[in-house]
Amino acid sequence: MRVLVVGGGGREHALAWRLARDPSVAEVLAAPGNPGIAREARCLPVAADDLPSLVAIVEREDVDLTIVGPEVPLVLGLGDALESRGHAVFGPSAAAARLEGSKAFAKDVMHRAGVPTARSATFTRSDWADDHDRVLASLRDDLGGGPAVVKADGLAAGKGVLVASSTEEAAAAVEACLGADAFGAAGSSVVIEERLEGPEVSAFAFADGNDVVPLAFAQDFKRVGDEDAGPNTGGMGAYSPLPFVDEALSEAIATDVLERTVHRMAEDGVPYRGVLYAGLMLTPDGPKVLEFNCRFGDPETQVLMPRLRSEPAELFAAAARGELGSVAVDLLSEACVTVVLASGGYPGEHRTGFEISGLDAAAEVEGALVFHAGTAERQGRVVTAGGRVLSVSALGGSLTEARTRAYEASSRIAFEGMQHRSDIAAAVAGEERT
Ligand code: AMP
Repeated sequence: MRVLVVGGGGREHALAWRLARDPSVAEVLAAPGNPGIAREARCLPVAADDLPSLVAIVEREDVDLTIVGPEVPLVLGLGDALESRGHAVFGPSAAAARLEGSKAFAKDVMHRAGVPTARSATFTRSDWADDHDRVLASLRDDLGGGPAVVKADGLAAGKGVLVASSTEEAAAAVEACLGADAFGAAGSSVVIEERLEGPEVSAFAFADGNDVVPLAFAQDFKRVGDEDAGPNTGGMGAYSPLPFVDEALSEAIATDVLERTVHRMAEDGVPYRGVLYAGLMLTPDGPKVLEFNCRFGDPETQVLMPRLRSEPAELFAAAARGELGSVAVDLLSEACVTVVLASGGYPGEHRTGFEISGLDAAAEVEGALVFHAGTAERQGRVVTAGGRVLSVSALGGSLTEARTRAYEASSRIAFEGMQHRSDIAAAVAGEERT
């Protein structure tokens, strides 16, 4: 099979790395890829959102299966563009990708499917312009008068969510979205929902339009600093499996969340194919969905791909073709931890172009894998080229061992201004029985 991975971050490096080790894969192509991906795949200089050029690659290179990493090309319709020309694609249509691309759409599907989620109300610009008071009354009354979360409806690069501590703060966020246009088209509607409490987990599954096959759970670390200090980022680390998610909870999430969602979408005539990634909060009243994503997570993929024992190409192709049936997904029993090495200043302004040393020494640590995210090659040297630079993963017999190895490998890497969290998987590894 000839496969194309669309994207060029740590997630896509992990996908390309795993696909390159699948005996049924003859060649891995990547667009645009990065210097790490270039060790596993033939990289083509085409941006992940350049749909016509991506379709041209698939046709010119006889690609059998396209695996789409980021959400933007899916929301723009890459799935439709390929499928309508008869090409297999692992990733949903634009209509189904609205599950991530529109929080109001996702809420509506969940509501009609009976999927447990936070109570919410959706408002448009004209609701706000016509009647501020009605929106504010909803904030106060419909949600129980407690603290609220305000979410811009569309894709806002992770910046469209405010967890407000007071009604006033929530009202100001609604005004920023609907009145002051802070998020452009992404903020033409807002979802206001009750604030939930509890640990957050990510559930990943494959869907083929009708059937759902759960993959695994992971937890990621979104804040830049230890103990969740500082601003939100794309993700500073992750680990899998989650010792506190037992079989009963995992089954409840599979049936009450993942299957209900996919079945509802099938009945609505919007079949969902690809990865279904549910962000959940484990509340005292049971698991509730915070959001859906229509693709793999970054950096969660950097702990999922190393754990995947099943060969991925046939699995992804079966999901693309609607033939998942009851295919079983096999995982290694090992745990995996990934630590993101970021540029100084990230997620704020940061400088790039610094030489990275120690990449080979890091990869020599037992169980370690170094995935590239924001890197570039200059005169044969690998330099920093983004906020999140590398994702250093390690497998181990326990989370404690995986964590020790990931940090040992990270300590061998250096570049000017490098920062990382030192507490990825620390709390859970401390509680693990060995
Ligand atoms: P989302 O993009 O919807 O996942 O929101 C981003 C982050 O905001 C989540 O990872 C949570 O930490 C937080 N969040 C979102 N919705 C809620 C909620 N209803 N209650 C508490 N925190 C939330």
